[in-house]
Amino acid sequence: MRLEDLPLRDDLRGKTPYGAPQIDVPIRLNTNENPYPPSKALVDDLAEEVRKSASTLNRYPDRDAVELRAELAGYLGHGLSGEQVWAANGSNEVLQQILQAFGGHGRTALGFEPSYSMHPIITSGTSTEWVDGTREEDFTLDPGKAVAAIEEHRPDIVFLTSPNNPTGTSLPLATIRAVLEAAPGMVVVDEAYAEFAREGTASALTLLPEFPRLIVTRTMSKAFAMAGTRVGYLAAHPVVVQALLLVRLPYHLSTLTQAAARTALRHREELLGGVAALRRERDATVEWLRGQGLTVADSDANFVLFGRFANREAVWRGLLERGVLIREVGPPQWLRVSIGTGEEMAAFRAALEGVL
Ligand code: PMP
Repeated sequence: MRLEDLPLRDDLRGKTPYGAPQIDVPIRLNTNENPYPPSKALVDDLAEEVRKSASTLNRYPDRDAVELRAELAGYLGHGLSGEQVWAANGSNEVLQQILQAFGGHGRTALGFEPSYSMHPIITSGTSTEWVDGTREEDFTLDPGKAVAAIEEHRPDIVFLTSPNNPTGTSLPLATIRAVLEAAPGMVVVDEAYAEFAREGTASALTLLPEFPRLIVTRTMSKAFAMAGTRVGYLAAHPVVVQALLLVRLPYHLSTLTQAAARTALRHREELLGGVAALRRERDATVEWLRGQGLTVADSDANFVLFGRFANREAVWRGLLERGVLIREVGPPQWLRVSIGTGEEMAAFRAALEGVL
């Protein structure tokens, strides 16, 4: 039997699943993971917490993940409480729940590409119409044009991504504010990479008290180095969280996931300790690439978009042949490299010199 033989939804026909190639190579710099594995102390603590939770696995987990949400609120600060925070299996699931609650058939979501490609995929997966607004050549967002796009399409949901994937660029608060003032529906600011931002880049969390239809999403996959745990979360008005309870599956966050996430939060000093090193390595990578005469987007994230290559596929493949996997993503002619350890970045530089 082939896929075409199944009574699949018409709008899913001909599509391919999302995902970067998972290739077994020595240097993997392709999915914006954090290169630092948990320390022995954290592994021991995780094992102990999992052992304790294991004796209760005949029971369902805390359905509302009350303690985890309170602890995430404490981490975010800004005077937030647990009832303003919601968590799920990765921020992808958080985004999907937002679309389930506020999108759907006959509704529209607006984003500004190039941006995180799961935004349009989750949008169409929930039968919501996707509209792409425009970005400038240098990947910035012109607030006047963003507002004009909102006025034209009257979207139910607007996606902003700051710092943006795959460009690394972040948005000034004034642009986010202009969008919030113009948007008739929900505004999602995807801040998966917030902790990597350079000094002076403000978080949209500061706007929450003013804008009850603002949702800020975060993740433990990047700065917290917990991608395998699958925990993403959001901060919003408590009533927005109540709306998400209408669509979430009961007991969606397993007991083990909640225990692992809470343990990671207790070890946040160690986990976030890697962020400073990654920011330094990121800034050095930007400078080095520019020194090679390449065009490089400013980055507030743990990856760098660089180009421009007439044949980016050849460069990507040349790196792969030298054991370095990066990502062919974003506009044609550009490539994205995730920031790894100092050693990994040295290997990346040597490989790229070999290719160029
Ligand atoms: N938002 C952005 C902008 C991302 O780049 C990613 C991961 N690549 C996510 C959300 C989803 O991450 P996760 O589901 O692991 O939280």
